[in-house]
Amino acid sequence: MVFVHIDVAPFMYLWMYCIHLRGDCLSVKVAINGYGTIGKRVADAVTQQDDMEIIGVVKRRPTFEAKDAMRLGFPFYAADEEFIPDLEKAGIKVGGVLTELLEKSDIVMDCTPKKAGYKELYEKHNVKAIWQGGEKHELTGLSFNTMANYEDAIGAQFARVVSCNTTGLCRTLYPVKERYGIENALGVMVRRSADPWDTKRGPINAIEPVLKVPSHHGPDVQTVMPDLNIQTTAVKVPTTIMHLHSVIVKLKSRPSSQDIVQLWDETPRVAMIDSSEGIKSTAQIMEWAKDLNRKRGDLFEIAVWKDGVHVVGDTLYYYQAIHQESDVIPENIDCIRAMCEVETDKFKSIEKTDKAMGLIA
Ligand code: NAD
Repeated sequence: MVFVHIDVAPFMYLWMYCIHLRGDCLSVKVAINGYGTIGKRVADAVTQQDDMEIIGVVKRRPTFEAKDAMRLGFPFYAADEEFIPDLEKAGIKVGGVLTELLEKSDIVMDCTPKKAGYKELYEKHNVKAIWQGGEKHELTGLSFNTMANYEDAIGAQFARVVSCNTTGLCRTLYPVKERYGIENALGVMVRRSADPWDTKRGPINAIEPVLKVPSHHGPDVQTVMPDLNIQTTAVKVPTTIMHLHSVIVKLKSRPSSQDIVQLWDETPRVAMIDSSEGIKSTAQIMEWAKDLNRKRGDLFEIAVWKDGVHVVGDTLYYYQAIHQESDVIPENIDCIRAMCEVETDKFKSIEKTDKAMGLIA
């Protein structure tokens, strides 16, 4: 018998070098500041992509979410030195403070509550940053929705992903505007009063109108679709599970209801639902979302009732439902790709994000 000795070490070194190269060149290093409703979902979605990675999450208090972040293996950082003793007392292994994490990051996802005021710090550390819809457009001067203005974010230092309601309006109105033209749009936002975990906000037994017209949603849509003539009004209702929009659109041309349904059938991140299948309210939509077996029962897609789409003359009427805690997550991922110049084609980014996150539409 002849034994041939093969030294595997050079191959091992080559393999490790390739991994190292991939880490350095292809994987965007993402930090999460604020690990709550949006932050934890963005962290999970980043982890599902092959061109970006979480290098740390930042929190102040030792909440159950902080402990979950540790359990999931995310490197943990305190917002500041003063928070370290409480975090460590609760058994959380703290790897450092936010400023140290910023030094290693390509981009920070600011998922803190609105007006937390970190912009100067990010500027000082010369790190890119993405904020969420609670912030005003003026904070960054660049608001983002993938379909509406992906290209504007390519290479940008700061951006804000528009809110859950605005994302929902953009997802359905943008393709209609592009294909059929829009004279004007009117949206009535029926808003959930609080997120399901939030016991502090209300109302719990009343309907509360926003008396200012337009509500902030219409102008917010115009931050990414400036040429859209849109008005919105809003009311808060005692539910925690979804927002619902009733939208009326005067079109520049006269498609049939079926044409509109087909357009949205072909549109990413819009899921057509049907009341004949037993989905008559937001309650059944959320039950269906849980059946999809996604973590937290999230519905990243905007749900539009197929049998609620009606074109009468030149006017389109439709209803859509928004899962406020999760619909903005795919846009956050696309925004990272655009700002870090990993992908310049919005359709390729959408495809990559949605496949990795398991979207169905
Ligand atoms: P949240 O309260 O669920 O989470 C905020 C997290 O930030 C918490 O972990 C909190 O401990 C932490 N935090 C608070 N102050 C901080 C500070 N100074 N430094 C570091 N961390 C701090 O809030 P959220 O709902 O995730 O909202 C975050 C942003 O996302 C807001 O702009 C909000 O308007 C926007 N948004 C929220 C929703 C929604 O439905 N919850 C939907 C779309 C956009």
